[in-house]
Amino acid sequence: MFDISKTTPIDNFMPVTSATVYFTSLCNSGCQTCDIWKETKREEFPLEAFKEIIKLPWLKDTVWALIGGEFTVYSKYIEAIKALNDAGKDYYFITNGILPKKIQKVYEHTTIKNLSLSLDAFGEEHDRLRGAPHNFKKITEIIDWVKANHRETRVRVCYTMSNFNTRQDLKNVIAFAREKNIDLKLGIATNAEFFQARTEKSDITLTTDELYQFEDLVNKGDQYLQLYRAWKRGYTPPCDSIREHLVLMYNGDVMLCEAKMVKLGNIFELEDKTHYTPGKALTNLWHSAETRRTLEDYRTCNDCWMSCMRKMDAKRQSVDKIKPYQAVYGYLNYRTISDLKEKVTS
Ligand code: SF4
Ligand code: SF4
Repeated sequence: MFDISKTTPIDNFMPVTSATVYFTSLCNSGCQTCDIWKETKREEFPLEAFKEIIKLPWLKDTVWALIGGEFTVYSKYIEAIKALNDAGKDYYFITNGILPKKIQKVYEHTTIKNLSLSLDAFGEEHDRLRGAPHNFKKITEIIDWVKANHRETRVRVCYTMSNFNTRQDLKNVIAFAREKNIDLKLGIATNAEFFQARTEKSDITLTTDELYQFEDLVNKGDQYLQLYRAWKRGYTPPCDSIREHLVLMYNGDVMLCEAKMVKLGNIFELEDKTHYTPGKALTNLWHSAETRRTLEDYRTCNDCWMSCMRKMDAKRQSVDKIKPYQAVYGYLNYRTISDLKEKVTS
């Protein structure tokens, strides 16, 4: 059990710019790339704890990612959105779009600032990949309805490149996003320990060179995508995203990141419930010397290239400097850009 009295608060931390909350253990999809939908035990993040946490002063500028499982399956999903709107927070409502009525229902009580719909291919190909019949049609309906009725909502589709979709799928989704005049977020699937009931099918992408074929499509201004190839070849930018990204699980576990099953502590397993609310426990845990040490230990980890985590690390790198060296050496294996520069110029 996490013993809050034994933690030692220290003060060398980066602002937490983003946080992901896994509100529910359940999902109503059947994706080939993830096994969360196989979970049958319902566990949920308590709404009251969430309301307390979003008001913590050290999380005042944090952008929240609301997921599950599937966020619309969370029994208090409307209340969670309302709490964020009432507190003036930024967030992304992330959904597979299987339940369009649940999206519409939100607007009877509040609004949605940013709506992100997962779209891994076009038409029936998407439905096959996601194991969800008519999912593409529903996503299209949601986009059209929200754009027609709620211009205050920013809509985007999120495409994840994996071994399960193709260059043509990506082109189709780019054309779809252009036609609908909505944003498109590209991510690259990566192996992660995070999805408990994994099968061999989930062992995707980065073991192959297949994704290189996308290079001409993805090398357009997104540093995370541009650096993917360098990362594949051994470039190891420090993982600082773990210092500025908070991950909360439905059972109160606070995780190191969204790829590894490394738990920093739990905000509900408190020995002293009189003095420590979940919010206070989170404050103490995040700033403890133990957590800081763990984050320092994993700073050299380079085990994933997940967009939700490494995008922030990629942003800190200088692509202009790295590109020529990439061409000279077939692979890169230096901790920082300056290490690399030194090696090349010496
Ligand atoms: S990828 Fe998302 S929608 Fe698909 S099963 Fe996993 S949690 Fe559900
Ligand atoms: S590189 Fe960072 S985000 Fe990825 S698994 Fe390692 S610690 Fe987690």
